Amino acid sequence: MKIIFIGTGSGKTSLKRNHSSFIITNRRYKLLVDAGDGISKALLMAKVSYNSINGILITHLHADHYAGLPSLIVQMKMNKRREQLDLFVHKDIAKTVSDFIHHSYLFEEKLNFKLNVIDLKENSEAEVGEKFSVKFRQNSHLDEYIKFDRTKRLEFPCGSFLFTVNNINIFYSGDIGSGRDLRLFDDYRINYAISETTHVEMSEIIKYYLNSRPKILFLTHISEEDRIRNKIQRIYRDKIIAAYDGLTVSI
Ligand SMILES: [Zn+2]
Repeated sequence: MKIIFIGTGSGKTSLKRNHSSFIITNRRYKLLVDAGDGISKALLMAKVSYNSINGILITHLHADHYAGLPSLIVQMKMNKRREQLDLFVHKDIAKTVSDFIHHSYLFEEKLNFKLNVIDLKENSEAEVGEKFSVKFRQNSHLDEYIKFDRTKRLEFPCGSFLFTVNNINIFYSGDIGSGRDLRLFDDYRINYAISETTHVEMSEIIKYYLNSRPKILFLTHISEEDRIRNKIQRIYRDKIIAAYDGLTVSI
């Protein structure tokens, strides 16, 4: 299996890093995790062909994680896609994401390929492909927004994830609210981990590493002005690695 980092930047648009996004792939299935603003160009830069992607998982509805979705679907159509595209989205925002696509005038009959929305539910395993699954657990990233929703109609799912590919467990923090969210999958043996760096202190990330001891912990969602490598103590530098756009890891 491989992890390909498509973008490793934060929510701030940057010339050095695309918005945070990566691909997890085994021989049979290529899953894109997040499709924020600029994702189509980021995939071009990483030399990933649009139609090689089998499914897209949206972690939450911040623009740096989902705003590029309709434009990526347009690119797939222009590249004459025929195969179904799976969309993994939490059940509480599945309709919003479907509406976003429809409101962008992307109708299945015109696309010539099927959009297959797969609901993610709290703590339940969704099958991605053969020997490839994902589990969603709610984190606290969006908690601070809830009080601003005067309509009381919005939903606030935001996930941390456990990907299991060929029996290898990969923890992905997603965007989180605090270091406590890094512990959401402490009941699993984690083989590899990917953590964001914008909403959590490096000391918390190192604490997580020392507790969970993944083989490698990759850092992403890195601000341009963040001197990330300097923040990682020398003794951890072969175990805690700041990812960069285009980094491909074979496992
Ligand atoms: Zn973000």
